[in-house]
Amino acid sequence: MDTTADNTHGGEAVELATEEAERGTLHTYPFVPLKKTVIFPGAKVTLNIGREKSIKAIAEARKADQRFVASAQRQAEVDVPGPEDVFDLGTLVEIKQYEVQTDNTVQVIVEGVTRARITVWPSLDPFLQVSCELVPEPVASGAQASAVMRHAQSLFDRFTQLSRRFNADDVAAVAQMNEAGLLADTLAIHVVTDDAQQQELLETLEPLQRLEKICVTLGNEIEILELENKIRQRVRQQVDKNQREYYLKEQLRAIQEELGHDQASEIVELRDKLTQKGVPADVATKVNKELDRLERMPTHSAELVVLRNYIDWVLALPWQERTEDRLDMKFAQRVLDEDHYGLEKVKERIIEFLAVRQLRTLQAQRQSRATDQKQSAESAGAGNHKGPILCLIGPPGVGKTSLGQSVARALGRKFVRISLGGVHDEAEIRGHRRTYVGALPGRILQAMKTAGVRNPVFLLDEIDKLSSDYRGDPSAALLEVLDPAQNYTFTDHYLELPYDLSEVFFICTGNNRYQIPQALADRMDIVQLPGYTEEEKIAIGRQFVLPKVLHEHGLSRSQVQVPESAMRFIISRYTREAGVRGLERQLATICRKAALRIVQKPEARLRLTEKNMEQFLGVPRYSADRTQERGQVGVATGLAWTEHGGTLLPVEVVTMPGKGGLMVTGQLGDVMQESARAALSYIRSRARELRLPDGFADNLDIHIHLPEGAIPKDGPSAGITMATAVISALTRRPVRSDLAMTGEITLRGRVLGIGGLKEKALAAHRVGIRNLLVPAENVKDLSEIPAKIRGEMSITPVESMDEVVRLALLPKTEEPAQGDGGPDGDSTREPVPPAPVVTNVFDRDVAEDEADLVPPGGTPHLDDHTPTSPAI
Ligand code: ADP
Repeated sequence: MDTTADNTHGGEAVELATEEAERGTLHTYPFVPLKKTVIFPGAKVTLNIGREKSIKAIAEARKADQRFVASAQRQAEVDVPGPEDVFDLGTLVEIKQYEVQTDNTVQVIVEGVTRARITVWPSLDPFLQVSCELVPEPVASGAQASAVMRHAQSLFDRFTQLSRRFNADDVAAVAQMNEAGLLADTLAIHVVTDDAQQQELLETLEPLQRLEKICVTLGNEIEILELENKIRQRVRQQVDKNQREYYLKEQLRAIQEELGHDQASEIVELRDKLTQKGVPADVATKVNKELDRLERMPTHSAELVVLRNYIDWVLALPWQERTEDRLDMKFAQRVLDEDHYGLEKVKERIIEFLAVRQLRTLQAQRQSRATDQKQSAESAGAGNHKGPILCLIGPPGVGKTSLGQSVARALGRKFVRISLGGVHDEAEIRGHRRTYVGALPGRILQAMKTAGVRNPVFLLDEIDKLSSDYRGDPSAALLEVLDPAQNYTFTDHYLELPYDLSEVFFICTGNNRYQIPQALADRMDIVQLPGYTEEEKIAIGRQFVLPKVLHEHGLSRSQVQVPESAMRFIISRYTREAGVRGLERQLATICRKAALRIVQKPEARLRLTEKNMEQFLGVPRYSADRTQERGQVGVATGLAWTEHGGTLLPVEVVTMPGKGGLMVTGQLGDVMQESARAALSYIRSRARELRLPDGFADNLDIHIHLPEGAIPKDGPSAGITMATAVISALTRRPVRSDLAMTGEITLRGRVLGIGGLKEKALAAHRVGIRNLLVPAENVKDLSEIPAKIRGEMSITPVESMDEVVRLALLPKTEEPAQGDGGPDGDSTREPVPPAPVVTNVFDRDVAEDEADLVPPGGTPHLDDHTPTSPAI
């Protein structure tokens, strides 16, 4: 039936054909039509012959010289083709092999001899017979022929490289060919696959023309192959890359598995941990969801780290862990006494506070049992500490923090502390949202993580130093932390989960109760720690601070001895403070120096005395008792309240020729300036009674200065001090130097009450002043002053400025003029009456919340040695 072709090339037949073609005669041969097959001279083709007529034609050829003519059918579908159905130009072929198949078809291998042009059809039956002219192959030579041939050969070379279909012999044969026609036919067999194109090439008799056509085909083929190659390469690269990644990932996984870090197993671990943690159900659901996300995340994803951190945070927080409370008031009292000297009233308040908490816990436990809640009685009770929050207010170093620690020890709880000083960003309390780079939970949850239990004692230091700005109000966030009605679902921005803070025992500390945001102050039980007397400091120093400092420096009591007198010397000459921090620092300095000596000379024993103190601490910072100073003209001693305790507030006044002006310096606030003006108006109105020089209001300028001018001061309570100093300067009567005073002045010379009396009294006592003038209105507060101090001081209540003048000014002395050129007033001959002593007559509870006259308002927090904004 169909013919199939298997073209190979031979050389012998070609030569023969050329000879015969040259003869130019007509030859008659049997004819076989071919379907989709074109045979070129020199090509070896296998034909499968099924058609009856064709088998007969081959049989005929075999009888003669084994040759027949074959040419392609114009249309392959025609089964019984006649002369018009085949191309006129065919090929004379020679049978090389003959074989009858089992189905009676015939397979022959033939070799093309030469082109043959059919001209006549002598017979059509029983087989086709043609008479044809054998076409000679013209020889092409010359430069053009060799150029075309070389071009064709190089194209073929490239083609074989790209297609990789050819064996080396074929390639070599083509390279050696030097005849254009032969080369063209050979290339046509190898390169051209389409039968119509093959027929066209067969019919192109001019060899160079044929070769050029093949060159075009070769060029196209090469282009296609190059494109194919490119695509194939790209595909392979992609596959290579994928394979490489796959391979590396597999290796990584294997390594991780070896190290036990397999992500999958890690997630299983995390899930286990989550279950063990006993987190609340809603939290578990959320975290499980996050774990699902984590599981799906590719290992190299940047978000993975963020998510992993988040889950670590959740798991690091205490959810169920808690310590058992020790609700034993006797023990608590013992702990407080062991850790702190004195502070009786404060300790009493703390114990009361603890007692109330204990009762509330018991009550809550009873209720939870009664309502038969499934929760454990403890946890139900624990969440019910809805009492106020303990807030310790006092100057630095009076033991607020250490009291907090003692409360924790007394209750058997863990202790954590954060300082709120300077916190002005809400995010510091509540954390940043996870979308921020490097976000973390806020300080509250960080401290909870440190605590490791959900019921620590949590000290919020310097709650009065919170400030707010455009970044949000931290006090609002803090309210959510402290308010028992809200804090069982405290939500941190980072965590985005409700966290129960209701079991935490919050204690706040601060220096100034009036700077605590009102909303917070409302929820607090404020306990004031006023500061210590010298005697108390000596006791604290010897019994508590020194042993602690010695221990910290690896020293023993016998190696460094600080007797009472030396301790007193340190306290009075090297420190001036309400608390004992400065003392602690001085003792630490001594211990450092002592340590060095002892290391150099191990058997050394140091005993500190007033004499050898300078070796350790240098020259004393403060002078001895100021009562020895003589009274001075124009200098009066007032008293101020500061966040760091009471302090002395000297007032200096000079007068000079002028026009009755008033100058006030020393960074005084508005209230204080007005107070100065009021004092002056009062003085002018009482000029005669006070025996002031005539016309002083017109020809003298008065300058009032409050030293330590760099520190802002405000408040009305320096009124009488300023008035006294002015009167002294005008009358030239000195003011008693062993006396200090405090009180607001009215225009008519009345003395009004002030705040912070206790601290002021302690400050005066500290520097050795033993006489105090206080407003009569403050008599009720005298009981707050420790009895010992009261006993050692002469405290005189005054109602009017006249009394102050009488008690504070000494008779005029003959000391040289102050350079003010002021006129001498009549010297007063009034004798100084002994100051009436008011002591221990009132018996009231300490720490009643008497309002200090302190303006609420931001004062900068400075080092505890530096009084800030004294409110006077
Ligand atoms: P605050 O928190 O009030 O600034 P601290 O609690 O830090 O002060 O106290 C400073 C040091 O003084 C601590 O070492 C503390 O133990 C000690 N201290 C203060 N008051 C007393 C006291 N009454 N008894 C014993 N030590 C005290």
